[in-house]
Amino acid sequence: MSLKIRNIQTSLYRVPLGQRTITDSQSTVEAVEFLQVKLDTDGDLTGYGMNWSYTPGLRAAQVMVDENYAPLLVGQDPVLRKELVRRMLLSNHFVGRVGAARVGVAAVEFALWDLACKAANKPLWRYLGAARERVKAYSTDGGWLTWSKDELVDDVKRLVARGFDAVKMKLGRPDPREDLDRVAAVRKAVGPHVRVMTDVNCAWPLATARQWGAKLADFDVAWLEEPMNPDDVRAHGELARSITTPIAVGETLYTKQVFRDYLEQGAVAIVQADATKLAGIDEWLEVAALAAAFGAQVVPHTNVQQKLHVQLAAATPGCILVENCYESLNEIWEEPVFVKDGWYTLPEAPGVGLELRRAAVEKHRIG
Ligand SMILES: [Mg+2]
Repeated sequence: MSLKIRNIQTSLYRVPLGQRTITDSQSTVEAVEFLQVKLDTDGDLTGYGMNWSYTPGLRAAQVMVDENYAPLLVGQDPVLRKELVRRMLLSNHFVGRVGAARVGVAAVEFALWDLACKAANKPLWRYLGAARERVKAYSTDGGWLTWSKDELVDDVKRLVARGFDAVKMKLGRPDPREDLDRVAAVRKAVGPHVRVMTDVNCAWPLATARQWGAKLADFDVAWLEEPMNPDDVRAHGELARSITTPIAVGETLYTKQVFRDYLEQGAVAIVQADATKLAGIDEWLEVAALAAAFGAQVVPHTNVQQKLHVQLAAATPGCILVENCYESLNEIWEEPVFVKDGWYTLPEAPGVGLELRRAAVEKHRIG
């Protein structure tokens, strides 16, 4: 059955987190912006895509969709997704191949996938072909940098009691000795069998990363995430050769070519590709295939769109975990996914599943 895209609508929301203040080494997060893209067709099917940001400015992506991409899409058959993505990427060449321009492309790309899955009457993970029927979760809904050591330890214990056997905590306090002291306290509290991940959010220079990253092995840390400026592939390669704790990067990388460079230089062991930063699902799958070819593991970055990445994880043999974060935002999705006893169950509704629940978000609409 051939379809034609008849119309594209975009809407923008700023949804408060409405819970404890969340702080890492770079940001304090109080609200999340969402861009919803709705593709109407000349058939019965409607495709939904979205993208998100912790910082204001997603309106720039909305403008890209409305002014650059929509004229390329109207009248086209959504089955030509890969060609349409190529045209969208070319159309923004001189105003930003990455960042907001690419975030807008991904939002449309998800809607095109949504149409394909709905036409096949399958959820994304069944449409792709699955490697597993449930997905292991780890918690990133805690470990915040401004918490006292006691708050941090109490919260980690709460997460372990809920069934998580893998938890992440933030590093990047002004004095790295404090970081190490906090890691020691968490390891002591959870015992030897819980995986503990650490995340610096790009704050360290190479010298700090070498000196203090080396000490993480004493506490059997599962990985060191975004230790340095993500543009500096060479520094990550140097660090990887000087410490034994695996290095994780990906949440601020926008192209498969950058992932290739990291993998070629042995600068990453845990590939945290995020389809919302790449040009969508197709490029995410390409990065996952690259990672497999280099023997790296895939753990998608997915703060606010777990339903998408849980399905990609189910379809990716080398994907070992998916993070679970900002559970207070579950109410904004139609049919959110939940973690029970440390595992995600997979959605069964046809499509990608990125439709925002209008009743929950309409009061937060900003554009
Ligand atoms: Mg991170």
